[in-house]
Amino acid sequence: MNPVFFQTPIDYLKGVGPNRADLLKKELGIHTFQDLLNLFPNRYLDRTQFYKISQLQKTNTEVQIIGKITHIKNVEQKKGKRLVATFKDDSGKMELIWFRGHKWIRENLKLNEAYVLFGKTNWYNGLFSMPHPEMELLSEYEKSLRPSMQPVYPSTEKLAARGITNRVLNTLMQQLFLVSKNNIAETLSKPLLKTLKLTSKKEALLNVHFPQNQDLLARAQYRLKFEELFYIQLQLIRKNHLHKSKIKGYPFPKVGEFFNTFFKKHLPFELTNAQKRVIKEIRNDLGSKAQMNRLLQGDVGSGKTIVALMSMLIAIDNGFQACLMAPTEILSVQHYNGLLELCNELKLSIYTLTGSTKTSDRRIIHEKLENGEIDILIGTHALLEDKVKFKNLGLAIIDEQHRFGVAQRSKLWHKNKFPPHVLVMTATPIPRTLAMSVYGDLDISIIDELPPGRKEIKTVHRFDANRLRVFRFLKDEILKGRQVYIVYPLIQESEALDYKDLMDGYESISREFQKPNYQISIVHGKMKPKDKEFEMNRFIKSETQIMIATTVIEVGVNIPNASVMVIESAERFGLSQLHQLRGRVGRGADQSYCILMTSYKLSENAQARLKTMVKTSDGFEIAEVDLRLRGPGNLMGTQQSGVLNLRIADIIKDHEILKLARSYASQILKSDPSLSSTVNLPIKNTYIQLSKYRNIWNYIS
Ligand code: ADP
Ligand code: MG
Repeated sequence: MNPVFFQTPIDYLKGVGPNRADLLKKELGIHTFQDLLNLFPNRYLDRTQFYKISQLQKTNTEVQIIGKITHIKNVEQKKGKRLVATFKDDSGKMELIWFRGHKWIRENLKLNEAYVLFGKTNWYNGLFSMPHPEMELLSEYEKSLRPSMQPVYPSTEKLAARGITNRVLNTLMQQLFLVSKNNIAETLSKPLLKTLKLTSKKEALLNVHFPQNQDLLARAQYRLKFEELFYIQLQLIRKNHLHKSKIKGYPFPKVGEFFNTFFKKHLPFELTNAQKRVIKEIRNDLGSKAQMNRLLQGDVGSGKTIVALMSMLIAIDNGFQACLMAPTEILSVQHYNGLLELCNELKLSIYTLTGSTKTSDRRIIHEKLENGEIDILIGTHALLEDKVKFKNLGLAIIDEQHRFGVAQRSKLWHKNKFPPHVLVMTATPIPRTLAMSVYGDLDISIIDELPPGRKEIKTVHRFDANRLRVFRFLKDEILKGRQVYIVYPLIQESEALDYKDLMDGYESISREFQKPNYQISIVHGKMKPKDKEFEMNRFIKSETQIMIATTVIEVGVNIPNASVMVIESAERFGLSQLHQLRGRVGRGADQSYCILMTSYKLSENAQARLKTMVKTSDGFEIAEVDLRLRGPGNLMGTQQSGVLNLRIADIIKDHEILKLARSYASQILKSDPSLSSTVNLPIKNTYIQLSKYRNIWNYIS
């Protein structure tokens, strides 16, 4: 592309005055020629077909008809005036209706002349009608070189209301092509075009805006999707490389005393092969001179905590401190207690810091941290405070990464002279290719294996009417010594109502499960951390058999004796949330159950979610369904990633193209890291342009 030319402000395009320019900027983010050129159609209307009025179906689809207007009249109605025309072809008649613009239509429409009509039909009272049809005289239609596949561009209500209709956009696009055709330069290298048999850039742009047929359109779209994904991957991989070569890390060459003693003497179980592999990957990173930036993905219960601990031991073996940050107080406390127990025999100094740590304790912790008297610090966001300074933080681990933003991740970096190694852990299973584009700047390790002996959690869907039977089942389980979670939704928008549900639920459970036979804990976000911890502890110590909670227990909580998870109003939870909640049980040797309670009224989407939960417990399979049901932008953990901002590619549907793009981007960078060879010149130029005008962070909204 001729970069200068394509940065011309859109105001300078013929047909775009200041008003239109303003609208285009505000509504579609189109500031320059290039922006307009990259406004890709959402879909195409097939205008190769003509219908007869007698062939029309009652399905409200877009059709194209040739015929004549025979009458036109005003109709007064309570709701306002409308203009109604009778439109006939040789097979029948229908009505055309206008609610606005009567004067213009009256003056311009010609009676008894052949028109090409295009629009959506309605069926009412035995007659077809078409509101606000697109019309063109047949004689004009035959003269114009219109594409048979008519592009439909993204639009907004405001644009349409202010006269920038799809037709106007089409015209502007034609105008743009007229002036810019000769400036469109190739943006991919010759070898790439050849090996992948891609259409040229010019060809592709032409065919995506003015397709002559399905085949050319498909080829154009393929090329543009490839290009889009290719440059994203190129930027991500490049960033990752630069990162590795530029950002020095502290090399941890030793695997010493702590790690080895723990590994040989205190490991409470045999590591799974996946855990071993991942620990090896982390050890390799830590041993190199570059800073580690790694994502550890592993389904709930796959055993990420022990991996975190062993990584921290390597840091300590090399004379550094480590920290572990978790999104909730409950989880931090649990990690703290768990690690204390695991490290019981090792002489380590482990502390916890959360929002509810007393000021006097805080002061002590701050001091010990700076003195290097603390080996491992575990806590919540409190770790990010400026006052928290380490003597030599070597490794920072973030648990349940999706709860933290990118900014928070980077804040940890500045806790030391060199950034510490960073390991982020997540149980949100994301299909690998998606993870690549979302976390493309991180290396990825995956624990794809659960510890042995886990029994499949039996999952059932029950309606409110079955409640008594569910209660009986809970009593049986409790009698066997098991513990039960009952979870209520808590959605911010309806917080007050949700608390009422929770408290009502608590009351009715208390009535059904009476003291002294049954003891109940309750935990929710409005409680003081101290009270939460108290209630949590009663449950952990098996003093209570039932835990009533909101989703505060969603992440990470690990109580192996709890074997039943009841989820109330399960239809209100998203799939990944349901999966996370279910992951709270099935952690011990007993058969575990998940009971999804709902009312009878369920949307189709909710039914699909419940069915998926009943059918499978494979986190990756669930993630795929989630993705299909919700689209990538809503997938937990990807909100901030903005993968949705793609112009033409679809991260899910174009999965295969993404893989291809990534592999080529990686190959090219491997053989020519600075893109300095002549064949890669077009890539280099485009890359520079992109980072100038559309940095990768633009994708991250
Ligand atoms: P998550 O990946 O969800 O954080 P955890 O680290 O909390 O999982 O581990 C879940 C449970 O599995 C814990 O009770 C832990 O002790 C146990 N566990 C982890 N790894 C193994 C293993 N290799 N063999 C047996 N039990 C394991
Ligand atoms: Mg965990």
